[in-house]
Amino acid sequence: MADHQQAKPLGDDPHSWANFKQARVTHYDIVLRVDFHRQIFHGHVDVTASVLADNTDHLWLDFKALAISSVTDLNDNNATLLWTVPQNQSLCACLSIPIAEKQRAKGSVVKVRIHYSTSPDSGAIQWLEPSQTSGKKHPFVYTQCEAILARSLLPCQDTPAVKAPYDIKVTVPSPLVAACSGTPTHNGPHIEEDGWLSYSYHQKNPIPAYLIAIVAGALVKAPVGPRSTVWCEKQLLQAAVHEFSEDTEKFIQAGEFLTGVKYEWGVYDMVVLPGAFPYGGMENPNLTFLSSSLLAGDRSLTNVVAHEITHSWAGNLVTNSSWKDFWLNEGFTVYIERMILGRVHNSEAYRHFESLCGYNDLIKTVSDFGEKGAWCTKLQPDINGIDPDEVFSKVPYEKGSLFLLYLETQIVGGQDAMLGWLRSYFPAFSNKALSTEEMKAHFLNHFTNVHKVDPAKLNSIDWNLWLTGTGLPAVFDPRTVLQKALGEKCQALATLWKEQEGKGAKSDDLAAFQSKQTMFFLDLLITQALPLKHEVIEHMDSLYHLSKSKNVEISFRYFIICLKSKYTKVYHAVGEFLSRHGRGLYVRPLYRALNEVDHAVAAKIYKDNRSFYHSVIRNMFDPILLH
Ligand SMILES: [Zn+2]
Repeated sequence: MADHQQAKPLGDDPHSWANFKQARVTHYDIVLRVDFHRQIFHGHVDVTASVLADNTDHLWLDFKALAISSVTDLNDNNATLLWTVPQNQSLCACLSIPIAEKQRAKGSVVKVRIHYSTSPDSGAIQWLEPSQTSGKKHPFVYTQCEAILARSLLPCQDTPAVKAPYDIKVTVPSPLVAACSGTPTHNGPHIEEDGWLSYSYHQKNPIPAYLIAIVAGALVKAPVGPRSTVWCEKQLLQAAVHEFSEDTEKFIQAGEFLTGVKYEWGVYDMVVLPGAFPYGGMENPNLTFLSSSLLAGDRSLTNVVAHEITHSWAGNLVTNSSWKDFWLNEGFTVYIERMILGRVHNSEAYRHFESLCGYNDLIKTVSDFGEKGAWCTKLQPDINGIDPDEVFSKVPYEKGSLFLLYLETQIVGGQDAMLGWLRSYFPAFSNKALSTEEMKAHFLNHFTNVHKVDPAKLNSIDWNLWLTGTGLPAVFDPRTVLQKALGEKCQALATLWKEQEGKGAKSDDLAAFQSKQTMFFLDLLITQALPLKHEVIEHMDSLYHLSKSKNVEISFRYFIICLKSKYTKVYHAVGEFLSRHGRGLYVRPLYRALNEVDHAVAAKIYKDNRSFYHSVIRNMFDPILLH
């Protein structure tokens, strides 16, 4: 990544051509037909934009891997507009649309219709064959637009700085169902003349383009709370209802309490996607997308739901204005998610334990980046000209929430003071996008003028160190303030396996653990005890049955322990796991570990499953495993 500093900024945001300081999109109206056969969406989008500066003669939108067929002026009887592509580079092309002379003054409203189709190269869209679904009968398609993939779904101002409401109509072959990140505008589908089914949704809140989302397949649904429904293939429905019905409403209510802002989106629905989905969850408003890997059967992985629900405030309502400030979305979300989990578990110790696990993850992430990748460990990394997905890591999540924990425990005097500020921060920036500088100004103003904190304390915050320093922040080790009891039990067991090869270990060692403690115990083995002797691994498995766990977080860690200990008997099970789960959190480390011990086996498993994986995964591993 040495060349990243030479890349030039594009428009008003370094990841977008959008000239949103001159002409800013205020609404999208999207009409798409889903062609499973050709693997494209085709239709049109009506884009409304406000002119913000006099003499603005063009509206600039982003697009990538789209075929634009026409642009017309809805203010002028659909007159054809001569669009051009003045700039093009690897992140995207610029669609330049001329603005009619009479609409170039500040305050004018531009309205254009763009006919287009996506292409099989549209990175936002993943197509699944019937064989890759649970039902095996119907195809499935879904979109994933964060960070900068919305431009391959529709021409748009693909920057989080621009937030707009949207409407969408998606037409699919019968009997499939389409759902989108909004609320349905009618009961049931509209039947088209050719028998296809149209589903319409409306998103009333202004959202960034990365939250536009579509899913279509043989979906069914069932309620999991007073304002929540889960959608999925019918084969998964019972498991999904069981997994999510207990906690969802509790999480929403805790989020409302902590942020001081009621849940503004109406319903909170979720859709469980086939195993190829590359993330644990994606916070598409009104319709969180979830990985089927979360269906553990014992509700042990619903923390991801707490995380996605928290994005209803941090990220979706209050949005980072550029990807450099991604920690404002993810760091705040993790920090609040842990408070929610602490409240729902009725245990501050649990919140502390989650934070401790997170710090352990941060230590590991920083060490994995090493000296060469140290620039990626900044809270505000310099990513001009770089696809944010390339530097995606736990840093904005864990270092971001660590910074907030530091402010809570070392600066403002505790959780209540911090909540007082959050309850002012969220209302102040609702429906807006903000930068770190604006967050900092709001924080300092609150603790200077509203809830007064010793100015010497506020002055002692080394913002530069936190925001642009690399690695772990030397000023704060959370282990000095967090309760450690839950973690110490995990450490004691890990030490027993590390130092005495499990002598004295018992089959019920894990019985009193919460799942998260078992995960942490395995994490400690990974960071402290590898490689393990093969007979030690076999002894451990005979006691704890890790290889048979239904919890993916546990099997994943067990496989890493085996691979890093060169325990080749596990290849078959790893291959089977990688054919069912496409979530990057597991796929990335497993292929890396497998590739280190046996490139041929890694390449074979990858080739067998490549079509199952999302483009973000293929882009990462094609260069390594396709030869
Ligand atoms: Zn998140």
